[in-house]
Amino acid sequence: MPANKEIKKLEDLPGVGPKTAQKLRDAGIYTIEDLAMSSVNELVEKAGLGEETARKLIEIAEEIVGHGFKSAYEYLEERKNVEKITTGSKALDELLGGGVETQALIEAFGEFGSGKTQIGHQLAVNVQLPKEKGGLFTGNPVKVVYVDTEGTFRPERIKQMAEAVELNPEEVLKNIFYIKAFNSDHQINIVKKIPKLINEGNNIRLIVIDSITAHFRAEYVGRGTLAERQQKLNQHLRDLLKIATVYNLAVYVTNQVMAKPDTFGGFDIVQAVGGHVLAHAITYRIFLRKGKEKTRIARLIDAPHLPEREVVFRITDEGVRDV
Ligand code: ADP
Ligand code: MG
Repeated sequence: MPANKEIKKLEDLPGVGPKTAQKLRDAGIYTIEDLAMSSVNELVEKAGLGEETARKLIEIAEEIVGHGFKSAYEYLEERKNVEKITTGSKALDELLGGGVETQALIEAFGEFGSGKTQIGHQLAVNVQLPKEKGGLFTGNPVKVVYVDTEGTFRPERIKQMAEAVELNPEEVLKNIFYIKAFNSDHQINIVKKIPKLINEGNNIRLIVIDSITAHFRAEYVGRGTLAERQQKLNQHLRDLLKIATVYNLAVYVTNQVMAKPDTFGGFDIVQAVGGHVLAHAITYRIFLRKGKEKTRIARLIDAPHLPEREVVFRITDEGVRDV
């Protein structure tokens, strides 16, 4: 990080008094990093700042955080903060370059029954494992936000998976904030409240949204509203990516599509997210399909620095495992 190391809180910024700082926090902006990644519109609409003030504040924050040009070396150094969560399958971990990364958004898409929800459950358990076992636990209980839109979350399944990796099932369940999203607006608002939860002292390292697209699909039917749907979903993804980056956490989302592997449904999440310049954001998409017996095939698609290839894993009573 460049100069101005002494500036840490919003209040330390020139022109930001306690009142403005509070307005920013009410709008979900807690840190200089948050501010640097905000848009003028966001500050005007949500924090009620004047346009000129908003522009200036973002500029100052950007300068402190150093969102201008940086050397590839600096970028590599920053990427060292990225941590990885095991999926429970070595093959699947390897496909993802070592596991599910923090500071990234990973999307699993595939047809009904392909294993998207099972992976979500497994990650919610595994993130709580000690570091040497593929989790992110280092002494402070690791928490998860699990947003369910389809009513397919099963605490009993979490318990089963927790026991299989020798974690205390009750503790594991207590560390998962479960919330059912009733519609897309509710879903969007839930995500906006996550920074508050974190700033209240919850060590949230994983967000699961199962599914990210179901409500959007159901609510925006017909061509007339397609653009609006896309725009709302894009913003939602940007909110998620921002939280992932600022708080060094992983985001796992699911997206149900029809079986045909060459037509991936109406949403292109990579394109939606990639269109926005977020220096840290690396996005992974995996396409899941059923294989023989209990096996599942995962194909990595469009990953920024990994080859496109396929691996096989399976879903057992214990959870996601190698074949
Ligand atoms: P999706 O979310 O992609 O629709 P799921 O993740 O719900 O699919 O996967 C459902 C599949 O997971 C089931 O068809 C079954 O094969 C497997 N599964 C779920 N629970 C168990 C379990 N306790 N033991 C073994 N397999 C299970
Ligand atoms: Mg599911």
